[in-house]
Amino acid sequence: MNPSWNGQFSRFDLVARSAAKTSESYGSVVRVGDIEIGGDDFIVMAGPCAVESEDQLLRTAEAVARAGARILRGGAYKPRSSPYAFQGLGVEGLEILRKARQATGLAIVTEALSEEDVELVAEYADIMQVGTRSMENYSLLEALGSCGRPVLLKRGMTATLEELLCSAQIVAASGNPEIILCERGIRTFETSTRYTLDIAAVPVLKTVSHLPVIVDPSHAAGVRCLVPALARAAAVVGADGLLVEVHPHPEQALSDGEQSLSFGEFRDMMDELDPYLAVRRGARQLRQVLAVGGT
Ligand code: PEP
Ligand code: MN
Repeated sequence: MNPSWNGQFSRFDLVARSAAKTSESYGSVVRVGDIEIGGDDFIVMAGPCAVESEDQLLRTAEAVARAGARILRGGAYKPRSSPYAFQGLGVEGLEILRKARQATGLAIVTEALSEEDVELVAEYADIMQVGTRSMENYSLLEALGSCGRPVLLKRGMTATLEELLCSAQIVAASGNPEIILCERGIRTFETSTRYTLDIAAVPVLKTVSHLPVIVDPSHAAGVRCLVPALARAAAVVGADGLLVEVHPHPEQALSDGEQSLSFGEFRDMMDELDPYLAVRRGARQLRQVLAVGGT
């Protein structure tokens, strides 16, 4: 542990790893049904950027479940940079997500854009997503404190890790300790990727906080050919899972098609992750042995 981190993060007492917790080999586990995020398994959440139709979502749900995903992603409310871009299907999208859960057994993660949406979205979602543009939306974070669902908190694209943990602390202090952090890339001077995946964020967050941490390689890369490499990096660096965009016809997607994987590309990515997940398992076992030996 970098000693300067202690003072920096300890005031976020609900989400920071306290001195008492530093000897533990594992942090908090967020449970959704029989899925454990932050436990031994590497949990993959996959699906389209946006719910576009029942056919699109159900086919994607079946394909990602077959390839090993445990959680279905898909936005019914889309925060878009342009007011002219597809804004999502709203309640109709939530209904389609519910059908996909019934059909496949996958849990659902979907975004709530504002505090007014929280109650409704929580009726349909197993995990409430906070997007990069909303990380500092105080009233949304506060409302999520009493939503009764775990929260997937994405890092603001210009937010420091301290600011990310500050937002997590707001959710926790509002009554909800079930929080998963997500590194999704930050703005830098680099233009060859959509954002810059801050891979160091994973070990930093795992060191200073007890919360599970996942990586979104899709929004970081912005192009599908880079997604598998960033996913492998996430596995090796100790992430607890991934959030990946997949579409039946990426070239026809209403949003983020360029970074979405086809079904075949997603299956290949999952297959190619195996040796890297073995490295992750070995590292976890070693940490466990060292922690037991050290007490
Ligand atoms: C998303 O994952 O649906 C999304 C909009 O991502 P971000 O908020 O990271 O841009
Ligand atoms: Mn997207």
